Amino acid sequence: MTGWLRIVGLGPGAGRLVTPEAQAVLDQATDAVGYIPYVARLPDRDGLVKHASDNRVELDRAAHALTLAAQGRRVAVVSSGDPGVFAMASAVFEAVETGPPAWRALDIEVLPGITAMLAAAARAGAPLGHDFCAINLSDNLKPWALIERRLRLAAEADFAMAFYNPRSAARPEGFARTLAILRETCADARPVIFARAVSTPDESLRVVPLPDATAGMADMRTVVLIGSSRTRLIRRDGRPPIVYTPRFAG
Ligand code: SAH
Repeated sequence: MTGWLRIVGLGPGAGRLVTPEAQAVLDQATDAVGYIPYVARLPDRDGLVKHASDNRVELDRAAHALTLAAQGRRVAVVSSGDPGVFAMASAVFEAVETGPPAWRALDIEVLPGITAMLAAAARAGAPLGHDFCAINLSDNLKPWALIERRLRLAAEADFAMAFYNPRSAARPEGFARTLAILRETCADARPVIFARAVSTPDESLRVVPLPDATAGMADMRTVVLIGSSRTRLIRRDGRPPIVYTPRFAG
């Protein structure tokens, strides 16, 4: 049996947002490797071995997946959203770069998925319709000072922004600091979108002006989008507002 490794994005949650290409790989895999809640999204079936692991062991998980593929298994490493956005694809390639030379000969492919910020943006309208950037607010893998520097420079450059991993029980204060920096650097009432569990039964979407945004509005299942100075709100009777960023700037 010839092994392979596919790094698969499962999308934001709904089954209909898994790409047909990703689904075909999931149907052929002998092994699924990933963080516990993502592996749990795969239905059990004969011939599929699930290897679920905790959040902070990405490199070990990547090495395990590569070892299985080298043994001839058909391995799907699964991430939520897109596997290249704050997820497993980089961890696998880091393991390949530093691991046994034989891993470089393996058949490895990355299969894209719909990342949280795009699913959230689509729900709200088109807040990322002009230039934007994405920032991971977790300081597990980088110092807080770097996050703060990027926030300030992105605000100064007038990007719309998407924030992943805004807040967790282990880091309760980081998102409050983020909002304080944004209020300081933006000094206007641009919309902030709190999009939680998009495309799942728990989905909620909340749009508030920056001065009214509070840290408690986000948790680890939330992606937070903030507009640029150009972002507009279209109010509608009895329906949520549409948030969009025009495609011109000046
Ligand atoms: N690879 C993933 C991101 C992993 S980081 C992707 O491309 O989407 C985990 C963070 O993603 C969460 O803390 C949250 O900010 C965001 N996220 C993932 N799924 C989400 C969803 N369905 N709704 C809102 N945010 C989500």
